[in-house]
Amino acid sequence: MSADLVLINGNVITMNPSNPHVQAIAVKGDEIMKVGSNDDITPLIDKNTKVIQLDGKTVIPGIIDTHIHVTDFGRLLLWLDLTGCKSITDIKNILRKKINATSAGKWILGRGLNEALSEANQFPTRFDLDLVAPNNPVILYHQSKKLCVANTKALELARITKKTTILSKEGIIEKDPDTGNPTGIIKGKAVDLIWKVIPEPNTDDLLKLTHLALSKIIEAGITSIHWMILSPLEFSIIRKLDRKTFPLRIYLIVPFELWKKELKFRVSSSWQEDSIKIGAIELSADGYLASKTAALFQPYADSSKSNGKLLYTQKTLNFSAVKIIQSGYQLIIHAMGDKAVEAALTTIEYFDKKIYDVTSRIRIEQAALINKNFLEKMKNQKILVSVQPCVINSEFKTWAAIEKLGQRRARWLFPLKKMIDNNITVLGGSDCPMEPLNPFIGIQMLVDRKFFPEEAITSTEALEIYTINAAYSTKEENCKGSIKEGKLADLTILSNDLTSISSSKIGSINVTNTIIGGKIVYSK
Ligand SMILES: [Zn+2]
Repeated sequence: MSADLVLINGNVITMNPSNPHVQAIAVKGDEIMKVGSNDDITPLIDKNTKVIQLDGKTVIPGIIDTHIHVTDFGRLLLWLDLTGCKSITDIKNILRKKINATSAGKWILGRGLNEALSEANQFPTRFDLDLVAPNNPVILYHQSKKLCVANTKALELARITKKTTILSKEGIIEKDPDTGNPTGIIKGKAVDLIWKVIPEPNTDDLLKLTHLALSKIIEAGITSIHWMILSPLEFSIIRKLDRKTFPLRIYLIVPFELWKKELKFRVSSSWQEDSIKIGAIELSADGYLASKTAALFQPYADSSKSNGKLLYTQKTLNFSAVKIIQSGYQLIIHAMGDKAVEAALTTIEYFDKKIYDVTSRIRIEQAALINKNFLEKMKNQKILVSVQPCVINSEFKTWAAIEKLGQRRARWLFPLKKMIDNNITVLGGSDCPMEPLNPFIGIQMLVDRKFFPEEAITSTEALEIYTINAAYSTKEENCKGSIKEGKLADLTILSNDLTSISSSKIGSINVTNTIIGGKIVYSK
């Protein structure tokens, strides 16, 4: 029997410990037919076989992103990216290009205003934006999302005038000291005053944007995603997806409150179409470190009062978790602070063995701040821990975790090496669009870890997080996550070998091809 597709003369990292490196792969239909040396695979080539000459390029199992917000990513692709701007002139140039391609009256949104601009005294005001965009409402956001600048048209639509006043806890509407007119710069919660007047794209536009997002995801070498649903609107978009053009494998994760309200506790398997299904329901035990809503035992180090808080009582958390498992879904508990992680672990201990055993693959999202005691429990209960490597870096770097938690606690923030050494299964995702989509940037963060570098892991361990561990988390380790005979032919071809390149360069590795189910869906 001949192969449909053969990849030959390469550096194949299989992630199969019994046969870790091979030269060539043969594919039949959507499955891997054989792996081995060039000599093993060549006889499977006939006149109908498509052959990819790898010329030493690296092949890895298709990347699985276990945490991505697809529709939001699509929305953001429409936004102007100002992250590289160093001056008001740079911003105006980007804005001008967009204005020329946009009809009058349509909103223009941008993101990525940064500290460098403020430091260089180059932060724009409404007047700078008005010069380029007199007829379109424009709003540009700072990286922190807690600060924006709006032009005159946008201020008018939001009815923000000289007379608008807000409470100081709601932020600041900056005003010119001489005239009292708003400068367009808005800080804190008050940014919502403008956000709420921006019209929602209609379903057709959102579908187009979601397709655009899917194509970017495939280009990044990702073959499977765990799609974190944020709004019920996404269900109607998912039903209309063009699955032929975008055959990405999709696992939906629905927040508990949305499941309860929109899907009325629907039972698993009643909502499955092709390769899309609701796989998991996520219960949030607490909020986020960045907004100091993650629940901690001891207050945040820079404020004596705030501890964050648990979003449910222990009793409600237990009850809701049982409901999820009994309905046939994977249970995910978002728990970021140590108090929330404890609540999650207590819930898991509470389960009756009839509904739960260690094979249930319960996942804690984040498990950010832990301690030695938790490590032991997580290991014994075979908990899966889902992290987003770029988030880890942001917590330390942007949020200044050492300052906000204190050195002693920050040492136990995302201690991945300790988790892996304790045989805890860790999975990785991007949290795109809040963080970069590129999985190799994520892998670099883990291998070349800057904060508490003793918690850095090897490139092979990091790759496990995005492949075999992620496959295991959805009980798909028999068909995904490694390159092995009989598994799905989901493959990613790379310009460089991430296990031999210098760790500081992993993030710049290029994806040259993405293959899903034996079909080449992306070629650079
Ligand atoms: Zn997220």
